[in-house]
Amino acid sequence: MKRYSVFAIAREALRYHTGWERAWRSPDPKPAYDAIIIGAGGHGLATAYYLGKNHGITNVAILEKGWLGGGNSGRNTTIIRSNYLQDSSSAIFEKARSLYETMSQDLNYNVMFSPRGLLMLAQTHHEARGYKRTVHANRLQGVATEWISPQEVKKLVPIINIDGPRYPVLGAQYQARGGTARHDAVNWGYARACSDMGMDVIQNCEVTAIRSENGMVTGVETTRGAISCKKLGIVVAGHSGVLAEMAGFRLPIESMALQALVSEPIKPCIDVVVMANTVHGYISQSDKGELVIGGGTDGFNNYTQRGSFQHIEETLRALIETFPIISRVKMLRQWGGIVDMTGDRSPIISKTPLGNCFINCGWGTGGFKAIPGSGWAMAELVAKGEPGPLAAEFDMWRFKEGRFIDESVAAGVAH
Ligand SMILES: Cc1cc2nc3c(=O)[nH]c(=O)nc-3n(C[C@H](O)[C@H](O)[C@H](O)COP(=O)(O)OP(=O)(O)OC[C@H]3O[C@@H](n4cnc5c(N)ncnc54)[C@H](O)[C@@H]3O)c2cc1C
Repeated sequence: MKRYSVFAIAREALRYHTGWERAWRSPDPKPAYDAIIIGAGGHGLATAYYLGKNHGITNVAILEKGWLGGGNSGRNTTIIRSNYLQDSSSAIFEKARSLYETMSQDLNYNVMFSPRGLLMLAQTHHEARGYKRTVHANRLQGVATEWISPQEVKKLVPIINIDGPRYPVLGAQYQARGGTARHDAVNWGYARACSDMGMDVIQNCEVTAIRSENGMVTGVETTRGAISCKKLGIVVAGHSGVLAEMAGFRLPIESMALQALVSEPIKPCIDVVVMANTVHGYISQSDKGELVIGGGTDGFNNYTQRGSFQHIEETLRALIETFPIISRVKMLRQWGGIVDMTGDRSPIISKTPLGNCFINCGWGTGGFKAIPGSGWAMAELVAKGEPGPLAAEFDMWRFKEGRFIDESVAAGVAH
């Protein structure tokens, strides 16, 4: 594929943009592949990309039942950070964050990574203690985060009300290199790079059954026919339980809707990302000027991809207390995605009871930030058949054996 560059833009400007080729091919499925990845969200696409880039495996199909990025990877609020408590979590999230720093160059696709700084507000003494503890843990892990005072918070976020009546701001955990990226661009960039390596990204192709023989995976049945494969990666977030059932095992996963909303575009008023976990809301401003706002998950399991009025009301009521100026801003649209929650709020990157079938799921409300690190680790697992150091502790049997990687505080609201 032709590289995107300033020269390409100039050349196309001179010929009325008639020379751009499609960003990725849309081929029909072949009868067989070395590896199939189910799910063309960020994690599935990144897995395929690193299978090719790091392990030289390019006879790969990525099968997607809808359109690529149509799952959570195109529905999230794009927050990127790596300030987790446990060593295994911060290792994989920091690997991902560091890969985001160079992703646009690696993929030759502008993913608009914006390390604008991220604050997690402490609005109760309990929360302040928890965040200070995480800052100390991060220092030992080599992850650059710090504890800042309410006055420093106010300096970074002038629109904030630090003296709220119910929940004054007591300080914040601050990660200066946390931020955001454009979620669609991440999906599109990986898809283009995979296609460029000769992989087939096949949309509108739903996997309806998984075939096996003597305990080993042999292929899948899809709405576009049967396809054989030597190795299979299941990377379908909210539908992980459904696919696991097809493969003959059960997962400790609950699926539920998480929703977000954006306001009408307004003049720049906040240039960092702020998460207010106690009152349950988080906020950043997009390049178009919209306030991007996220809330919590539904309180019951479901497979809907819609928002609900009750959550909008709860989220906005909470945020207005901390950001009074948004009380007069009109909201533009809301949506939801199906997130896959594990009991310890940490992901699963694991072999499965079915031979040569691997699963990557359980990123719940916080997997956008993990996409490159997760893809890196999952590709290693699929290529070698054994997890590397990044994935080693995230196997699915930890729930049976009681080896939890508890991130319920770090991922409490949402991320
Ligand atoms: C509202 C919201 C806000 C969020 N905000 C953030 C945030 O700010 N920061 C953050 O880090 N994370 C956030 N997340 C979480 C993050 O979006 C997800 O963890 C991440 O995108 C999961 O990516 P994925 O590739 O695993 O899944 P998905 O992107 O959901 O992709 C899975 C794909 O599998 C496909 N699929 C399912 N079944 C089949 C089948 N049978 N055959 C073929 N294909 C199938 C689906 O169609 C889907 O496209 C948020 C999520 C939501 C919903």
